[in-house]
Amino acid sequence: MATAVELDVQLIAATRFTPPADIAFESGDDGQALVEFAGRACYESFDRPNPRTAETADYLRHIMEVGHDGLLEHASATLYIRGISRSAVGELMRHRHFSFSQLSQRFVHPDDAEVVLPDAVVGDEELTRLVLRAADESRFVYDELLRALEEQLGEESNALLRRKQARQAARAVLPGATESRVVVTGNYRAWRHFIAARATEHADREIRKVAVACLRLLREEAPVVFSDFHITRLTDGSEMAASSIVSGY
Ligand SMILES: Cc1cc2nc3c(=O)[nH]c(=O)nc-3n(C[C@H](O)[C@H](O)[C@H](O)COP(=O)(O)OP(=O)(O)OC[C@H]3O[C@@H](n4cnc5c(N)ncnc54)[C@H](O)[C@@H]3O)c2cc1C
Repeated sequence: MATAVELDVQLIAATRFTPPADIAFESGDDGQALVEFAGRACYESFDRPNPRTAETADYLRHIMEVGHDGLLEHASATLYIRGISRSAVGELMRHRHFSFSQLSQRFVHPDDAEVVLPDAVVGDEELTRLVLRAADESRFVYDELLRALEEQLGEESNALLRRKQARQAARAVLPGATESRVVVTGNYRAWRHFIAARATEHADREIRKVAVACLRLLREEAPVVFSDFHITRLTDGSEMAASSIVSGY
């Protein structure tokens, strides 16, 4: 029986910074400190000569306002996203500056037929039943195909290869709502671009939910770099986020 699974996003890695021992630069040890160091390295202004940008937060806000976004590429964060549909991963993967590692449907047998319900269906018993029934039916066909293909490939002595070949063909019938899992690494600039594009009200609701969840975690890791994004609620109850920065470009 298919079950609905919830989105789960966790930060699993982030940049740590060590200033060079021979440079007097007082800072933290996180990605934001690295971005500031990289910016100051351009002018060797490690002693913070300008009082208006002497504080790290003011410096980072300034570089984002003037569009010096290349500096944001030095620091990165890795998120592990579970409870995301195969369809939404397709949208996530359009963002070319990210690096991905996705759960393989060719190697891993989907023991539990877990699906991600579209938000519009959540809370509606009848529609939820309908989606779960469709998932059950496709799962039934998947299992039938798997059995038949494994039999058909019986002459292949390598059991692992036989199973892989059967799974890669049978997965064709699994729905777009099938749960996937993906490790995503991106630098701050790539994450900002993703959030700006996918947390807007124009984006699909699921990828928007993913983008807002990523934003919340990234804001904890790099509060200044992501502080210009404001999360608000739309009339349908879902969340969106938009930046208040107008780039100086
Ligand atoms: C609301 C919405 C609706 C969408 N609908 C559709 C749809 O119907 N069909 C569809 O196919 N896609 C659709 N997309 C996906 C969209 O077209 C992009 O492919 C996706 O958002 C990735 O963003 P990006 O193009 O900015 O590139 P990213 O890969 O995120 O790259 C970030 C930036 O790097 C630069 N860049 C990256 N690669 C290149 C390059 N090769 N040349 C020049 N500059 C580059 C660009 O400035 C780009 O904006 C939609 C996206 C959104 C947000």
